[in-house]
Amino acid sequence: QMPDQGVKKPRVLVLANQKGGVGKTTTAINLGTALAAVGERVLIVDLDPQGNASTGLGIDRQARKISTYDVLIGSAVIEDAIVSTQVPGLDVAPSTMDLLGAELELASVARRSHRLRDALNRMPPAGRAPERDASPIQSQPYSYVLIDCPPSLNLLTINAMTAADAILVPLQCEFFALEGLSQLLRTVERVRSSLNPKLEIQGIVLTMFDKRNNLSGQVAEDVRAYLGDKVYKTVIPRNVRISEAPSYGKPALVYDFRCSGSQAYMRLASEIIQREQKLRNRPAA
Ligand code: ADP
Ligand code: MG
Repeated sequence: QMPDQGVKKPRVLVLANQKGGVGKTTTAINLGTALAAVGERVLIVDLDPQGNASTGLGIDRQARKISTYDVLIGSAVIEDAIVSTQVPGLDVAPSTMDLLGAELELASVARRSHRLRDALNRMPPAGRAPERDASPIQSQPYSYVLIDCPPSLNLLTINAMTAADAILVPLQCEFFALEGLSQLLRTVERVRSSLNPKLEIQGIVLTMFDKRNNLSGQVAEDVRAYLGDKVYKTVIPRNVRISEAPSYGKPALVYDFRCSGSQAYMRLASEIIQREQKLRNRPAA
């Protein structure tokens, strides 16, 4: 069927970095919450078998009857996996450990790198099957889809990059921040040339910045010197409230809206919205 001409497609942003513990999931949860807080409609797609984004958003394991695994495998449509969260306007397609098997199961399947893209293209704009009960906010079309990736450049991450309009890279402010970045950028290049020519780099976000540590400042300077204005002005500080929030099943912005980490994610959301407006208004090539 033809998509409704009046409905804009959501911008699909992927949080990717094959290093673990750099802030992908934290950024997916809190950027998603911050975007929803300023009136965007957001879907987080959890593509990590660990399911930290789903847990951090308060979705119990028992509540994950249908997951992104079923969507990739093709045994369910994505709208049946989507559940709403405690944040109005923010939904999640949760993951389960089943995803660990997806790479192997998809190995011989046609369009194995396009499974997520195809699922998102077929999704109703508001992510709900029309017959399902929806509040007024839930019947609004999504404006952003954020995909949280596992710490690897495997088929799951390739699916995310194939489905995405742009990639957002969290970099931890530590000595080896740039290590692995060239491998990540080569993968982006490869996806661009074979699977998804429109994939662009939305930006690099510096995370876990410690202002009492000189090394943090030095790393931030080096990264800016190397990557220029691809790096967001907003830096996410290391903040204990951010690391506490997931154990309560709450985004940091719900757990403690005033803490420095939450406020940084609000600034990051507005920076990203501004960049998106610039990208949208640029003349067609
Ligand atoms: P990834 O998804 O890249 O593996 P996470 O987002 O799970 O990384 O972050 C790794 C760990 O660091 C988690 O325990 C998380 O709570 C913590 N963390 C992330 N960002 C911050 C921050 N700004 N301040 C303090 N702790 C953080
Ligand atoms: Mg993670």
